[in-house]
Amino acid sequence: QKVNTKDAKNGYVYRKVARPKYTGPKEKATFVTLARDEDLYSLLGSIASVEDRFNSKFQYDWVFLNDAEFSDEFKRITSAMISGSTKYGVVPKEHWSFPPWIDQDKAAKVREEMRENQIIYGDSVSYRHMCRFESGFFYRHELLDDYDWYWRVEPDTRIYCDVDYDIFKFMRDNGKKYGFTISLREYDATIKTLWSTTKEFMEKNPDLIHPNNMMDFISDDGGASYNLCHFWSNFEVGWLDLWRGPAYSAYFDHLDQAGGFFYERWGDAPVHSIGAALFLDRSEIHHFGDIGYYHVPFHSCPIEESIRIQNRCNCNPNDDFTWKGYSCTSKFYTVSKTEKPKGWQKYAD
Ligand code: GDP
Ligand code: MN
Repeated sequence: QKVNTKDAKNGYVYRKVARPKYTGPKEKATFVTLARDEDLYSLLGSIASVEDRFNSKFQYDWVFLNDAEFSDEFKRITSAMISGSTKYGVVPKEHWSFPPWIDQDKAAKVREEMRENQIIYGDSVSYRHMCRFESGFFYRHELLDDYDWYWRVEPDTRIYCDVDYDIFKFMRDNGKKYGFTISLREYDATIKTLWSTTKEFMEKNPDLIHPNNMMDFISDDGGASYNLCHFWSNFEVGWLDLWRGPAYSAYFDHLDQAGGFFYERWGDAPVHSIGAALFLDRSEIHHFGDIGYYHVPFHSCPIEESIRIQNRCNCNPNDDFTWKGYSCTSKFYTVSKTEKPKGWQKYAD
């Protein structure tokens, strides 16, 4: 059964498949995707897997952000896939440009050097705007004002298992504020001064650091150096006020002033991860080991057969990255004093 819906704001007509409406309690939560028009067809598979595995049961909204206006085709096709309301926003220019204090020549030289050294995305201006936007601005977009929680989705990703519970409600009920599926070590060459800049911030603002933080996840020597561990931010389920709050806001401003988004190639993954590790209570960070996830080149797949059967996962546990040496999730379980699944050692290399 199909129904036609007129979207008053965007002024076009699209078709939505009528589904059983979820009428239970809901959180103020939304999916959020940053994309360009040309990402449309690589996004559809991500959206389909999230809808089929989770969202068709709960019908949460989906916010799409872009540094340019989305095409009508993008809006029509994504709206038709999504069971909740869909919203499309343009990123304000100040959130996607060089701040005035950045030395353009210096930034251009770095891009040239990184191109010669073949550092991935090292010569890209747009990738840097993207990383800076995801680090410090997505949660300030007006389309996110109505929400407390978000789930970030990128093109070409997959959820492998059924998620039959409301993930946002789970976060709230269990006192969680940041959830991840995959963690790993960052490419050192992209963040040479991120840690020294972070230490400066910590020295100036000791009162902003949470007394029960998770420094031992990101540093193996009590904060002297960064061990490069970070939550992979292409998947995130989080509490928006973590980023909107005074501690992270001050931290982002400090990093932005230092210029490393342009003079180096700081990624939003290490920036968010350091933020979550320093400004949250350590018990507020959650590993989602039960939903399965893929973003090239890593898979998260529950190694316990009982979970894969229960949740109808369509992934191969032999591909799982979670317990491998280059992953940081084993460290996360150790420092959280959480028991690892039985037999994890078999999947370690
Ligand atoms: P990777 O995962 O680090 O390889 O980076 P991606 O190419 O997946 O980009 C990360 C996210 O930002 C994805 O959701 C992309 O769709 C989005 N993105 C990257 N560059 C741009 C850009 O220039 N404009 C817009 N609007 N989105 C971008
Ligand atoms: Mn990606």
